[in-house]
Amino acid sequence: MRRTKILATVGPATDRADRLARLLESGTDAFRLNVSHGSDEEHAATLRRLHEVSRKARKEVALVVDVQGPKLRIGEIAGGAVRLARGDRWTLDQDPALGSGYRTFVEIPSFERAARRGDPVLLGDGDVQLRVESATPTAIETRVVSGGVVSSHAGIFLPRAHLRTAAFGAKDRADAALALKEGFDYLALSFVRNEADVLVARHWLDEQAGGREVGIIAKIERAEALGAIDGILRTADGIMVARGDLGIEVPLERLALEQKMLVRKANAAGRFSIVATQMLRSMLTSPRPTRAEATDVANAVLDGADAVMLSEESAIGQYPFEAVVWLDRIARATEARFDPKPWRDLVRPQQKGGSELPVARAAVDLAENVHARAIVTPTHSGRTARLIAALRPTCPVLALSSSESVRRRLALVRAVQSFPAAAHSDLQSLRTRSLELHGVEGLAPAGPIVLTAGYPVEGRPTNLVTVVEDDRARSRGRRFRRRRFRPRTRNVQQQQ
Ligand code: PEP
Repeated sequence: MRRTKILATVGPATDRADRLARLLESGTDAFRLNVSHGSDEEHAATLRRLHEVSRKARKEVALVVDVQGPKLRIGEIAGGAVRLARGDRWTLDQDPALGSGYRTFVEIPSFERAARRGDPVLLGDGDVQLRVESATPTAIETRVVSGGVVSSHAGIFLPRAHLRTAAFGAKDRADAALALKEGFDYLALSFVRNEADVLVARHWLDEQAGGREVGIIAKIERAEALGAIDGILRTADGIMVARGDLGIEVPLERLALEQKMLVRKANAAGRFSIVATQMLRSMLTSPRPTRAEATDVANAVLDGADAVMLSEESAIGQYPFEAVVWLDRIARATEARFDPKPWRDLVRPQQKGGSELPVARAAVDLAENVHARAIVTPTHSGRTARLIAALRPTCPVLALSSSESVRRRLALVRAVQSFPAAAHSDLQSLRTRSLELHGVEGLAPAGPIVLTAGYPVEGRPTNLVTVVEDDRARSRGRRFRRRRFRPRTRNVQQQQ
C-alpha cells in the first residue's frame, strides 16, 4: 500500500468521466478543482462528475475546492497573450479594455499606494519581471526587466506593496456557496496571512455548511503566513505548501527549507500537509519526469508530507495519467526508506490534556512490538486517525467511520484508508469488523491487528488499545505450513 496520497488538479485535459476514472485507476486519492478558472456552470458540472466517478469507482475520494483568494490578475489581452521584450514600456491601468503590448488592466484600488518608483513587479510564475518607473492614482508605468510571454489573467505580484486584502472575500464566498450545493470536502484558502483569515472562513462554513462537514486547507503562499504558521495550524485542518506563489514571495533558494519547516510543523500539530506545484512540470509535454523532479517528489516523501499534488500536469498536460503513475512509483520506492522515529517525539497537538495522544502513541508502539499488520481505529471526526497517522506508524491505519464525509476527508492523510462502520459499535463487533477488513492492497493476510476504541462504547474519547489475534488466520496459516511441508518430507523419503 502506498502511504503518501496523490491530489490531482482537474482541468481541460482530464475533466471527462472516462479520464477522471482513469486518474483514479492510476492512483489518485483526491481531486482539486481550482475555481479561479471557468464558469459557475462548469464548476457545478465538474463537481457532479467527480461525485459520480468516485461513487462508481467505490473509492473514498476527497474533493478539494480551491478558491482564488485576493490574487491580483491582469485583464484580458487581445489574442490571449503578448510577448514583452526587455526594455519595453508597459502600463498597468484601470481601463477594462483589451490589453496589448503597451498596456493592461489591473484591478487595484489605488495604484499610487501600491507601488513606488524602483519597485519590482512579477508576472505569472515570476519569469517576467517589470520595474516601476512612476505611479499615479490611476496607472503605473513600468519598464520590462526580464521579458517573456504574458497571457490573459496572469497573476501579478507587487512584493513591496502591502495590499490589505483578506483571504476569503466576496468572490470566494460566492464560489464556495455554489460548490456547497454540489458538495465537497475541503475548502482550499488562497493567500492566507494568519489564523484570523482561516477563522473567517471557518465561521462562514459553520454557518453555511452546518457542522464540520467541510475541512479547511490553508494554502501557504505568502511570506507573512510563515511567521503565523502556528496560529494557522490551530484552526486549519491541513496546509498546502503552495510553492508557485510562495516561490515568488520568498527567495527561491530558501523554498526547500520553508517546505521542510511547514511539513514538520503541520505534522507536529496533528495536521496534514500537501506539497504542491511543479512537482512533475516537464510532464506537461514529456511522458517521463526529469531526474530533478523525481528527486523532488522523493524528498517531499522523505520530508514526511501527507500528500503530493499535480497542478498543470493533470489539468492541462499531455500525460496526466503517466504523471500519477510516476508519483505512485516514486512514493512507493521512497517510503520503504522513510524513518518515522524522529517524527514521533515532535507530535504535540495544540489542544492540551486528554487521553488521545497517549492512546495514539500506545497504539503505534504496540503495533510495532507485535508486528501488527494494521492499526484499526474507529473515528468519529477523523481526529484519532489523523493523530495516529501523524505518529507515522510503519503499518497502515484503517479508519472506521459511519460518516462518509469523514472517510472522504481522511483520503488526504498519509497511510490512512477508511471503511464504513456502524455508528456505535461495541468492542466485540469492532473486533469482528477489524478481522473482516479486506481490499487493502499490501495488507498481510494474517497477523495481529491493533485496535483502538472508546470504551465502553464508541462515541467516547479513544481510551483503549488492544491486540486482536485472528485465530482463523492462524489455523489457516498452520494448515498452509503443513501442506507446504508435506511434499518436502515425501521428497526426502523418496531420496532415502
Ligand atoms: C501555488 O501557488 O503553488 C498554488 C497551488 O496555487 P494556485 O495553483 O491556485 O495558484
